[in-house]
Amino acid sequence: DDLQYPVPAPATDGFVRVRGARENNLRNVDVDVPRDAIVAFTGVSGSGKSSLAFGTIYAEAQRRYFESVAPYARRLIQQGHNPKVELISGLPPAVALQQRRGAPSSRSTVGTVTTLSNSLRMLFSRAGTYPAGSTQLDSDAFSPNTAAGACRECHGLGVAHTVTESSLVPDPSLTIRDGAIAAWPGAWQGKNLRDILTHLGYDVDVPWRKLPRKHRDWILFTEEQPVVEVTPQRDRVAKPYKGRFWSARSYVLHTLADSQSASMRDRVLAYMESGPCPRCSGTGLVPEALAVTFAGRTIAELNGLPMVELAEVVRPTAVLDDAGTASRTQLSGESNEVAVAITRDLLQRITVLLDLGLGYLALGRATPTLSPGEMQRLRIATQLRSGLFGVIYVLDEPSAGLHPADAEPLLEVLEQLKSSGNSVFVVEHNMDVVRRADWLVDVGPRAGEGGGEVLYSGPVGGLAAVEESVTRPFLFDDGGSVPRGGSGAGRAREPEEWLELKDITRHNLRGLDAEFPLGVLTAVTGVSGSGKSTLVSKVLGEAVGSGLRTPVEQDGAAEPLELGSVLGSHRIDRLVTVDQKPIGRTPRSNLATYTGLFDAVRKEFAATEQAKARGFGAGRFSFNVAGGRCETCQGEGFVAVELLFLPGSYGPCPECAGSRYNPETLEVQYRGRDIAEVLAMTVDAASGFLAAVPAAARSLKSLRDVGLGYLRLGQPATELSGGEAQRIKLATELQRAQRGHSLYLLDEPTTGLHPADVQLLMAQLHGLVDAGNSVVVVEHDMAVVAGADWVIDLGPSGGDKGGRIMATGTPAAVALSAESRTAPYLATALG
Ligand code: ADP
Ligand code: ADP
Ligand code: ZN
Ligand code: ZN
Repeated sequence: DDLQYPVPAPATDGFVRVRGARENNLRNVDVDVPRDAIVAFTGVSGSGKSSLAFGTIYAEAQRRYFESVAPYARRLIQQGHNPKVELISGLPPAVALQQRRGAPSSRSTVGTVTTLSNSLRMLFSRAGTYPAGSTQLDSDAFSPNTAAGACRECHGLGVAHTVTESSLVPDPSLTIRDGAIAAWPGAWQGKNLRDILTHLGYDVDVPWRKLPRKHRDWILFTEEQPVVEVTPQRDRVAKPYKGRFWSARSYVLHTLADSQSASMRDRVLAYMESGPCPRCSGTGLVPEALAVTFAGRTIAELNGLPMVELAEVVRPTAVLDDAGTASRTQLSGESNEVAVAITRDLLQRITVLLDLGLGYLALGRATPTLSPGEMQRLRIATQLRSGLFGVIYVLDEPSAGLHPADAEPLLEVLEQLKSSGNSVFVVEHNMDVVRRADWLVDVGPRAGEGGGEVLYSGPVGGLAAVEESVTRPFLFDDGGSVPRGGSGAGRAREPEEWLELKDITRHNLRGLDAEFPLGVLTAVTGVSGSGKSTLVSKVLGEAVGSGLRTPVEQDGAAEPLELGSVLGSHRIDRLVTVDQKPIGRTPRSNLATYTGLFDAVRKEFAATEQAKARGFGAGRFSFNVAGGRCETCQGEGFVAVELLFLPGSYGPCPECAGSRYNPETLEVQYRGRDIAEVLAMTVDAASGFLAAVPAAARSLKSLRDVGLGYLRLGQPATELSGGEAQRIKLATELQRAQRGHSLYLLDEPTTGLHPADVQLLMAQLHGLVDAGNSVVVVEHDMAVVAGADWVIDLGPSGGDKGGRIMATGTPAAVALSAESRTAPYLATALG
C-alpha cells in the first residue's frame, strides 16, 4: 500500500498503530495513538519523546511520502531518515513544526513566512492610491525580492555599502609604505601596488594626511587602471615587471563582486560603511512602488508597523458594506470590493497572530531575529490557513516562550487545527497544556537507557494510576516544589548590593531604569515581546560585559545600545551566558571534549605501561588529530555514502566500524577498557569507572547533578538537544573552582525541560547563588519564578506597548501587584 501513498489509507479505526519502534533509546515500543485528537507526549528530557513523535512517526510519514515521489524529484527534497520501526498503520501524511531559527542570511521576514506580504502587495497593486498619470503596478513591483520591485541601487537589500576615505584609511597618520591604505591586499600584491605608486611619482613615505587632497582622491577613488613597468624597490634580485594599478575603491568593489573566496569578501566588507540605501531610504523598493499608498501610507510604512496597528489600518476598509466595483481606471481602489475582500482576509489572518500574542511583530521583521518560539507560532498560525486536513501536525513544545496569559489562545489554535480535521501531536512540558490534551503518551521512566518505554497511553486522567511515571506528580499533585531562594529556608535571600542601569534605550525599552540585586536569584518576567530578552541578554550582558572586556555577541542589524550609566558592576568579575546553542557544530565535539574531562582520560591512557612501551603520548588517544585515529574516516567514525538518487547519507566507517581509532591505539587498555569503549560509556557508568581520576570525576559529578547521567561521553554534539547543551554548559561552570563573583544570565532555561528536570536545574542555580554568585533568568515557568529571591516584571504588553517595569520585588510582593499581568499566575504558584 506504500505505492498508493499519499492517498489516505483506507479508513481504519481512527488510530495510528506503531509496532516495534527502536529508534535511539526506544525499547521495541508498541503504542496506539488516536487520530483527530490532540495528543501530548511527555517524559523527562532524554526519555525518548522526540524519538517517538519526530524520529519515528513523523519520519515514517516523510519516508512514505518520499517513496511516492518520482526519483528525479527526490534529489530536490530533503531526505529524512529511515526510522527503526517494524510497522506503522493508519498513518496519514505529517507536517512537522519544529523550533528552528531561520537561516541567518535569509531574506525571509514575518510577512513572507506568514504569506501576509503577498496579500498586502495584492492590496497595493489592486486597491492602492496611485499618483495621477501613473499606471497600475503588478503586485511583484511591491516586493524588494523581485526584479520588478527591487531598488536598482541596492538590489532590494535596502542597505548600501559605500567606501569613504576614513573607511579605507582608518589611520591617516601612517604612510602608504606602513600600510595606510588598510583596504588594499597584503603581501606581494600590496607591495606591487605601492611600487606602482612610487613609479607614478607619488610619495609613499609621508603620513597619509600630509598628502595633497588630489593625490589622496586619485589613489583611493580613481577608475583609471594604468599599467606600468615597475622596478621593485629595495629588492635587487627581482626583475622589472608590468603591473596594473587598482585604486582602493576599485579593489574593494572588484573583490566584492568577483572574488570566489568568502573570507576575501568579508575582509573587504570591513572597509566599507553600511547604511540605509539613499535611493530607497532602506526600503529596498523602486520609487514607483513607494509612490502608491493605502490609507495614506506606503507599503514600506505598513511593513514597519506592529501587526496590532496594521490591523487598525485595514479594519475600516474591511468593515465597509457599500463597496463599489473595481475598475482599472480608478486612481484609488481603496473603497472598492476588491479592497474589502483583501482587507477582510488580511484582518482575519492577522487576528490569529494577535491571539497568539505576536501582535508586537511587524511584517518586515527579519525572521533570524525571532526567537524559536515566536517562529514556531508564526508557522502554526500559517498552517491554519493552509486548508490541509487529514494530516498529523507534530509540534515541539508549542508553549515555549509563552507567558501563562498567552497559553489559552494557543490552545484554541490547536483546537482549531483539530476541528478542521487534523491530528495534533505535541511534545510538551507545560502541564497546563498537557491537561488539556485528549490523549497522553508518557515515555520513561528515566532518560537514555533508563527510558525508552511507553509507560502510559490513554486519556490524561488515567496517568494518575501509573506509579512509576515521573510526570504523574506534576500533573496531579503539585509535584513537590521547585527549589526556592534562601537555600530552601523558605525565606528569600537579601540582596547584597545592586547593579543599577540608568536610562536604557534599545528596541522597545525607552529611557528605562532597572536595578538588579546581586548575590541573589532574579527572575525577569512578562508577556512575549515585553522586552525581557532585550533587557537581560542584550542590555545587561553588554553593559556588564563591556566593563569586563569580554567579547559580547552582537546581533547583526542591532540598533546601538544607549545607556546612561551603570553602577555597581565593579562587584562582578565574570559574566557567563548559559544558552541553548549547540556545544559544537560537528560530530567532533562531544561532552567529554567540551567539559575537558577527555584530557584527563587521555592522560590516564598515556600513563599505562602498554602506552609507555609503545611510546604513545596523550595525543595518540585523540580522534581529532592524525596518529591514533582511524584515517579512513579521519576519526569521525562514519563516512558519507554516495547513493544514486539520494543526497549524501552517512554510514559507519567500514575500517574502524565506528570506533574512530586505529587498531594499534585500541590495543591499549586502561582498567580493561580501550579508549573507544570509554567514549561509549554513559556518564553514570563512567563515574564509577573513573572515580579515581579527580579531574574526570569532578566533571562527571557535575553532569550527573544536572541530570545528564544518561548521556554517553562520546555522543556527538550534533545529537544533543538545546536543553542538553545548556545543561552541559552549566555543568562545566559548576565544575570550576569557584572564586570571585560571577553573574550568570539565562534566557528561558527551562525550555525543553520536564518539570522534574526543572527541579534539578534550579537546585544547581540556587547552588551558584549560595556560593556567592548572582543569577538572572528570563522565565515563564511560575514555579521557578515563585522560587526566585527577586522578580522584575515587564509589561504591560508586547512591543511599543511594553518595555516598562510593572512590578518589582520579592515574588510575594509582585504577586500582589494590581498592574502586573504576571501577578495572578504567580499568586497561584505561590499557593
Ligand atoms: P526526549 O525527546 O524525551 O528529550 P530524545 O528522543 O531526544 O528524548 O532522546 C532519547 C535518547 O536518544 C537520549 O538518550 C538521546 O541522547 C538519544 N538520542 C537523541 N538523538 C539521537 C541521535 N541522533 N543519535 C543517537 N542518540 C540520540
Ligand atoms: P521578550 O524577550 O519579552 O519576548 P524581546 O526583548 O525579544 O521581548 O522584544 C522586545 C521588543 O523588541 C519587541 O517589540 C521585539 O519585536 C523587539 N525586538 C527584539 N529583538 C529585535 C531585533 N533584533 N530587531 C528589532 N526588534 C527587535
Ligand atoms: Zn535601495
Ligand atoms: Zn574509521
